[in-house]
Order: sequence, then structure tokens, then C-alpha cells
Amino acid sequence: MDLELLQRTVAELHQPSYRTRQVWRWAAQGADGYAAMTDLPLELRSALRERVPFSSLTVRHLAHASDGTVKALMDTADRRPLEAVMMSYRDNRRSLCLSSQSGCPLTCTFCATGQMRFGRNLTASEILDQALHFRRMGAVDHAVFMGMGEPMMNLDAVLQACEHLPDVGISARHTAISTVGWIPGIDRLTEQPLPIRLALSLHAPDEALRSQLMPVNDRYPLADVLAACRRFYERKRRMVFVEYVMLAGVNDSVGQARGLADMLDPRMFKVNLIPYNPTGSPYDASGPRAIEAFRAELESRGVGATVRLTRGRDIDAACGQLAAARA
Ligand code: SAH
Repeated sequence: MDLELLQRTVAELHQPSYRTRQVWRWAAQGADGYAAMTDLPLELRSALRERVPFSSLTVRHLAHASDGTVKALMDTADRRPLEAVMMSYRDNRRSLCLSSQSGCPLTCTFCATGQMRFGRNLTASEILDQALHFRRMGAVDHAVFMGMGEPMMNLDAVLQACEHLPDVGISARHTAISTVGWIPGIDRLTEQPLPIRLALSLHAPDEALRSQLMPVNDRYPLADVLAACRRFYERKRRMVFVEYVMLAGVNDSVGQARGLADMLDPRMFKVNLIPYNPTGSPYDASGPRAIEAFRAELESRGVGATVRLTRGRDIDAACGQLAAARA
């Protein structure tokens, strides 16, 4: 829902401004339309229905995985595609994977979104509407900006959405922004007050290999990115999550684990190893044994490391598989 349009419309209809808050409260708590907002006058509900679309997104396709993961392929009003995912865990946690852009301007060679055409930045409403879509299915409490796009290249809209996410049930502490290492964005996140988590897609323990996998490394080299992450930690006192996608024979040797451990201060960084989801790229996924050996090497050097659970693989909703190719 476009909150600015809502506010403007409420004013134009000569309604008190608290009506805006009322509508938003209903929407944030999972109402599925204006009709449900029983403490609003009927005429106001129908006027709003005419003038303020209940969602800025239309769902084009919903996919349900056997593990309970749900993926939604949605379109913006100007028909830009995006995808968002909801994961349910046994402890009742419900986590959303949100997109910040339609497509992505960066060209990481292993990533499905990186191979599709960049559309545009999403607005704060379009980001919130992804969350509202899933909120209508039940309570949600965590969010990660690990869907399509590079959130740090659209940080104004991302932060604006983050300010409203607590109303939907997702506090800033339970929200993480994942970045390729876009330094101006990391610095801004360091300076602003919301306690949002930072995750860094690192993927290679040396500059040359990282540039090969992630061309953005030429612009923001790993050494400078890690320095920005250290500044984030010093200011926020919150650990930075390092994401490391495991590519067979490329970045998954024990020697490379050692190299990675050497560059990470264990007080500041925790590593999350991501089993690669093949997306038609030239890369293959590392096997479970290679992943375990890599993890054990990091741990033996004092760096905390976990292996990410793969969710929603059977519906192409897993990490890095989001690419709305049906556009
Ligand atoms: N642009 C941001 C947000 C996207 S997050 C970033 O890169 O951090 C998506 C995460 O999934 C990133 O860590 C990305 O490197 C990883 N990823 C991309 N393609 C993948 C794939 N095919 N399999 C597993 N992880 C992948």
C-alpha cells in the first residue's frame, strides 16, 4: 500500500489524519482488504477502494515447497517482476526474504538474478507490500534483504520500509541487509540508528577470485569492504554475517578456508556457508564433505561457521535462484 497516497487521499477526503494510521494498522496486521476495516465508515472504505490500491503489487504466481517455503512472483504496477519468499521453521519462526530491486545491476557470475535484466529500484511501498502479502497468511517475525537486487543501492527505500516493518511484526533487530560490499551503503547503515543486521556476501578469500565471481569487487575491493564492516562492528557492536557460497573446485578448498579465517576477526564475523543452488551457470555445487571440511577448518581457527539449510529448492525459491524469467 502506498502510504503517501493513502495520507494524501485521506486529507483530500477531508478525513481526520488518524484514519491513515487506522488503515495502516489493519493492513500491517494482515487485513486482506478495506472491507475488513470495520471501524472505518463504509463510505470511506469504498472511497479508498477506488483511489488507493490495497497493494502496489499483483501476485502472478505462488509456489509452495514441500518444506513449507512459499515463493511469490509478483509484478509492480508498471509490470516489473520481483520475487519474495517466506520460510517457516520448526520453532515457529517465520522469515521473509525480500527483494529491493526488480532484477539487479550487478553481475555476479553465479547468481540467477545477476544474469537477468535490471529493471529498477523498488519503492518502499513495493518492499512493504511483499511483507504484507505474507503477513496475510499468518504472523511473520524475521526479514532478510536477500531476494533480488542489491539493497545498498536502494538504501533510502529499504530503510523507509524497515521503519514500518515493526508494525508488521518484524523488528529492526530481526532484519538483516545483505550486500555485495557496497561501501557507501555499509557506511550509511553504520551511521543510522536502527539496529539492523549487516550480512556481507564475501565468497572468495582473495581479490582476484572475488573479482572473477563478483565484478563489483573491482570497484570496492575486499580489503576496503572488510574495513567498512569493522567500522560497522565498532559502532554497532553487532556481528557481521559473512555469506560464502560454496562452488566446487573454485572457492571450497581447505587452503581457501584458512585464507578466509586469516582475514576475519572472530569477534566481529560469523560465517554462513551457503550450499550452491545450480542456476544454469558454469559452476557446480560443492559436495557435503567439502563443505564440512571447510567449516571445520574455519572453526579450528576460531571463526564461527554454520552451513545454511537449503529451503524451497523444489520451487526454485532457494538462495540466488530468484529470477523472474517469465517476464
Ligand atoms: N545483492 C545482495 C543481496 C542478494 S542476497 C548480496 O549479494 O548480498 C542473495 C545471497 O545469495 C547472496 O549472498 C548471493 O551471493 C547468494 N547467491 C546468489 N546466487 C546463489 C546461488 N545460485 N546459490 C546459492 N546462493 C546464491
